[in-house]
Amino acid sequence: MQVVDLLRRHDRSVADLIAKEAERQETTLELIASENHVSPAVLHAAGTCLTNKYAEGYPGARYYGGCVYHDQVEEIARERARSMFGCRFANVQPHSGAQANAAVFMALMEPGATFASLVLKDGGHLSHGMKINFSGTYYKPVHYPLHYDVNHPQHERIDYDAVAAVCREHKPKVLLCGYSAYPRVIDFKKFREAADQCGALLVADVAHIAGLIVGGAHPSPFPYAHVVTTTTHKTLRGPRGGLILTDSEDLAKKIDRSVFPGMQGGPLMHIIAAKAIAFGECLQDSFKTYAAQVVRNAGSLAAALAERGYRITSGGTDNHLMLVDLRPRSDRLTGADAEKWLEEAGIICNKNGIPDDPRPPRVTSGVRLGTPAVTSRGLKEAHMPVVADFIDRVLDAGLRGDDDRRIVAGQVREQVRSLCREFPMPA
Ligand SMILES: *Cc1c(COP(=O)(O)O)cnc(C)c1O
Repeated sequence: MQVVDLLRRHDRSVADLIAKEAERQETTLELIASENHVSPAVLHAAGTCLTNKYAEGYPGARYYGGCVYHDQVEEIARERARSMFGCRFANVQPHSGAQANAAVFMALMEPGATFASLVLKDGGHLSHGMKINFSGTYYKPVHYPLHYDVNHPQHERIDYDAVAAVCREHKPKVLLCGYSAYPRVIDFKKFREAADQCGALLVADVAHIAGLIVGGAHPSPFPYAHVVTTTTHKTLRGPRGGLILTDSEDLAKKIDRSVFPGMQGGPLMHIIAAKAIAFGECLQDSFKTYAAQVVRNAGSLAAALAERGYRITSGGTDNHLMLVDLRPRSDRLTGADAEKWLEEAGIICNKNGIPDDPRPPRVTSGVRLGTPAVTSRGLKEAHMPVVADFIDRVLDAGLRGDDDRRIVAGQVREQVRSLCREFPMPA
């Protein structure tokens, strides 16, 4: 807490809020599937003097002097990114996952070109064609659906026949796979076959599952994807940021140009240093153990919730996240209420539409839960039924009324606090 003390002497109002946020993170269970707890080394690298530097350009070809150490830091980050994914080229400069996608779109397509992605409300990301996002404004999205047929064994999973059919019909320039709320393994080989059939380039946006891929807990998009994009702050457990990978020298050149000067100015060198450190952590054997534990924890949490009367979409999870359909527990229970009530008890998650959700996005019938952050604290699969019990007690009390809920949420809040004390954040 030395840093906070320094900040407090300098700027009380902001420092107090940072201290409160540190306390909030320390004492709550983070089940938001896209969040994680970084190591102290990653955290501190992000707060270094590298923020002072302009380093527009790439190692060895900068537009400013004084980049000697920045070149070496970025080289280390690129080299580690390549070895993580076993590919030939990496661009570590995108400020975020959405920026990485924007740069890739710009590199691969003319404005107005057609691309194919998953129906957004079924688990896609806003940068995959939402109307008011760059992707839906400057390009033409067409969508493939999930299977919707309760009697089909592939219910709520990717419909690969529909992917191929959308490609045949619309001849997209880019076929996009990779999602924000999809709990199952992605078959990159099948996507590549669909892309090849219509001459599309396959882009895999593995923002959510990158850490599982690197840790060997999900198949790799290479050699099938032409381009891979990801965030660095989700399962990769690095600083907030983006990353682009490819095996093609021609595409790598186009991508480098579209990241800078196409989309961005100066790279965030302090963040690139933090990325380099996080990538170094990902390359250690302990990260394989972490990735496997994330998946085991998700499986255990999903099973424990199913036992308590909730429906897990697609019947379970293969990765770090699950979508919990709350309706079988009670048709009065909404995702919005669940999110709010659970936060009162110190359990942080987000409401999320389930496939074919009859409720609007601000309400929803589901919550999305993920295990990357609690696994970083050291929770194991045996703790997941305990977490499921916390969740169920709070939601059950909420259905009985406000008074019951306040009492039970208060009790669970205390139990969450003591579990968090037992498993402190990485420090
Ligand atoms: C989180 C996410 C992104 C974008 O991340 P930001 O860093 O918030 O821009 C892109 N694609 C997918 C599939 C994601 O889940």
